[in-house]
Amino acid sequence: MTKDQLIKLREDIIHNEIEPKKAGEIVYLNKIKSWHTTEWKKKRSTLLKESCEQCGSKEILTIQHTWHPRDYGIIKRDICGKYGQLINEKYTVEDLINEKEVENYFNININQQEKEICIKCGSVNISARKTLSPKYRCNHCKELFEAPVKKLLPIFIDDRKQEILQEMNVVTYSELSWKIYKEKCKELLFKEYGEQIEKETIITVIDESLRYISLADTVTFCKKCAFIWDKKGMNICPICKTRYKKICNRTCYECKEL
Ligand SMILES: [Zn+2]
Ligand SMILES: [Zn+2]
Ligand SMILES: [Zn+2]
Repeated sequence: MTKDQLIKLREDIIHNEIEPKKAGEIVYLNKIKSWHTTEWKKKRSTLLKESCEQCGSKEILTIQHTWHPRDYGIIKRDICGKYGQLINEKYTVEDLINEKEVENYFNININQQEKEICIKCGSVNISARKTLSPKYRCNHCKELFEAPVKKLLPIFIDDRKQEILQEMNVVTYSELSWKIYKEKCKELLFKEYGEQIEKETIITVIDESLRYISLADTVTFCKKCAFIWDKKGMNICPICKTRYKKICNRTCYECKEL
């Protein structure tokens, strides 16, 4: 797609003349072509300098992008995060969750199994001894006993009303209500802002594509500098101006102390 087509599509999305999903398909189906338009090639030739902006070499020069558009998925995740925040501010856990739901969730989703526990403290951390009597020893409270208690675990505890003991195998009200809350918020996010999210995502995709084809974030590099940037993620150290360093580092290793 050309710059003008992208701008037109962007306008159409804003004015609801095209569904965001449909617009997304158009952008992604035509993406490859956009970097080869004559408009782009012309601009590229005017930007190309006489030597590599990094090392000064005049051999095989190329336009190097120093910034790349993000993937659709990453942009969408960002925008979902922004609206997710709004949902969290709008609804509290208490707004969305009631006690009965939490109990039901426990009964349906938590798989209880019969376990042997200490008769005194309820810990599952007990050992059966081969020769000594009494046969069992609790590794947590050190209680000795002949036979452990059998109990279905984990148990459900409403930690707003009841204290949890350290060694108990429990699922708490807070844990479950928070889990259900997050699930409900996710549903509400797409119910309330789904369309807005799609729209903003594809507009951002277009904006980033436009920035990319504008060649605003580019430099003239020689083939070697371009290769090292793309394949190794390295550029030249600003201090010694000879050694390459990781782009995220300020200087090369040797110039670090200077
Ligand atoms: Zn160079
Ligand atoms: Zn015990
Ligand atoms: Zn250096």
